[in-house]
Amino acid sequence: MRDVIIIGSGPAGFTAAIYAARANLKPLVISGLERGGQVTLTDDLENFPGFPDGLGGYDMYQLFEKQAQRFGTELLYDVVTHVDLTGDVKIVKTADQTFEAKSVIIATGSTPKRLGVPGEEQYIGKGVSYCATCDGFFFTDKHVVVVGGGNSALDEGLYLTRHARQVTIIHRRDRLRADAILQKRAFDNEKVDFVWDTVIEEIVGNGDMVTGLKLKNVKTGQAGDYPIDGIFIFIGHYPNVDLFKDQVDLDEMNYIKTDRRTRTNLVGVFACGDVQDSIYRQAITAAGSGCQAGMEAEKYVAELEGKAYPGKLDKK
Ligand code: NAP
Repeated sequence: MRDVIIIGSGPAGFTAAIYAARANLKPLVISGLERGGQVTLTDDLENFPGFPDGLGGYDMYQLFEKQAQRFGTELLYDVVTHVDLTGDVKIVKTADQTFEAKSVIIATGSTPKRLGVPGEEQYIGKGVSYCATCDGFFFTDKHVVVVGGGNSALDEGLYLTRHARQVTIIHRRDRLRADAILQKRAFDNEKVDFVWDTVIEEIVGNGDMVTGLKLKNVKTGQAGDYPIDGIFIFIGHYPNVDLFKDQVDLDEMNYIKTDRRTRTNLVGVFACGDVQDSIYRQAITAAGSGCQAGMEAEKYVAELEGKAYPGKLDKK
């Protein structure tokens, strides 16, 4: 029986692991398919305190992993296929192993949303992408479209200007929701232009690659073809809750419901990072809630073992 299993290996999961490991809980982190989570898709993290010159997302993940392992975290590069978190003994299964734990920390993050238009699924990896850092290089000197008006769209669009000849940001409204500093950088960048009040109705291609879009202006109703070489979609995320949704309470947007101490409705089950945060979704806020979850798991395990711990833990 383990003290704590952490599901997910982004900033939240690894910060939980660092705290749990330093409390001698010998946590097991089960990484999931995308090791390091979404932070690894970010080319340059400029707003994580302590790194004034910025840091690559993948480099940051490697530092998190090293720091967690330094204190005795065990790491399993595998995917959780089933959980039973309702009893006192928490069961976590992968395809070929079953684990038991006193507590579980859910840190499974979120996944990019799809546009849901014809051609999107067909051309994923053939001109449709959700990751500029991963795929930008393939569009050197090409014309690409970025969809969305948030921080991700502008961040990733600006990154794409390193490779692409032209980056056109297509947004469904006439105002961006991205931070002012990113808006200014995008407006000032001569490789970036904007198409406002416009939605993508179809992604078209020649069978091998994307060749264009069918667009519609939502104000005028005017429709038209728009030739492009690639499309990068950054329109938000879904929380990764499929494994847990029948056991753990979710909010109206399907994020895991937690109290301000990262506790879910199930005793001994905590959630941290993007899977429970529909508002901030930053590496630093994920790490912060991971810290809370690690500390709460420590208190919970201490209580189970009848050890003294600071503060009162009200069981729900
Ligand atoms: P977001 O802030 O939710 O923005 C999503 C954008 O996509 C919005 O502009 C939205 O349009 C548009 N959109 C949504 N559904 C659409 C659809 N079906 N068709 C067309 N457009 C659609 O998501 P995000 O940009 O991924 O950011 C998520 C969080 O991560 C935010 O909290 C953000 O601050 C954070 N983040 C921060 C940084 C940074 O600090 N450097 C970088 C990346 C992300 P509307 O505006 O019309 O709703």
